[in-house]
Amino acid sequence: MLLVEETTNLKQGEHVGSPLPVSMEPQEIEGTEDRTATVAAANAYALAFVLPALVALVAAYALIWGWSALGDGFNALIYPFWRFLLIFVAGIVVHEALHGIAWRLTAAPKGTISFGFQVKTLTPYAHCSAALPARAYRIGAATPGVMLGLVPALVGLGFEMGATFWFGTFFTLAAGGDALILWLLRGVPSDHLVKDHPSLPGCLLLPVGTERAA
Ligand SMILES: [Zn+2]
Repeated sequence: MLLVEETTNLKQGEHVGSPLPVSMEPQEIEGTEDRTATVAAANAYALAFVLPALVALVAAYALIWGWSALGDGFNALIYPFWRFLLIFVAGIVVHEALHGIAWRLTAAPKGTISFGFQVKTLTPYAHCSAALPARAYRIGAATPGVMLGLVPALVGLGFEMGATFWFGTFFTLAAGGDALILWLLRGVPSDHLVKDHPSLPGCLLLPVGTERAA
């Protein structure tokens, strides 16, 4: 499962606070390997993953364009605040949609992508029920962070577009959980089949030799 600021279906709150990685669901296939994170761990690690990138981006902007330009850009993004809220909500919806679109364009069969929103933690998510090659899963995981995060941040940085820069910086932060999932998948061969976890950030590695159902 991929989400903005991770989570979902914290059933019985069972995984909160446990060290990463963890979790086993009853429907898991014999021989699968868990590559999921707990929600709590995902949040903490996500921040650790993207914070250095954010500091570097902000410092670069300030050095190139000046601190006041940095501040002006921030104000241009968040005021008027109602507009910022609209942008924020739209960005989150687009973030999740991009996960689904990227999976669909790479390997996910029709009808296997779903979207949802966990009210309890105010967390939207995208989920793919089909087994995917790790390569496709990674592309799906990375696409929102690149397209909504890094690209606008770098465009804003390059052209002194402060609001665009801050938008990209914010949505880079929002992709921290996705960065963690990519990290959990490091070393997995690109053709290895994985299955997005239905309720936790991350996925399961299917046993070698598993056939892909169409
Ligand atoms: Zn995401």
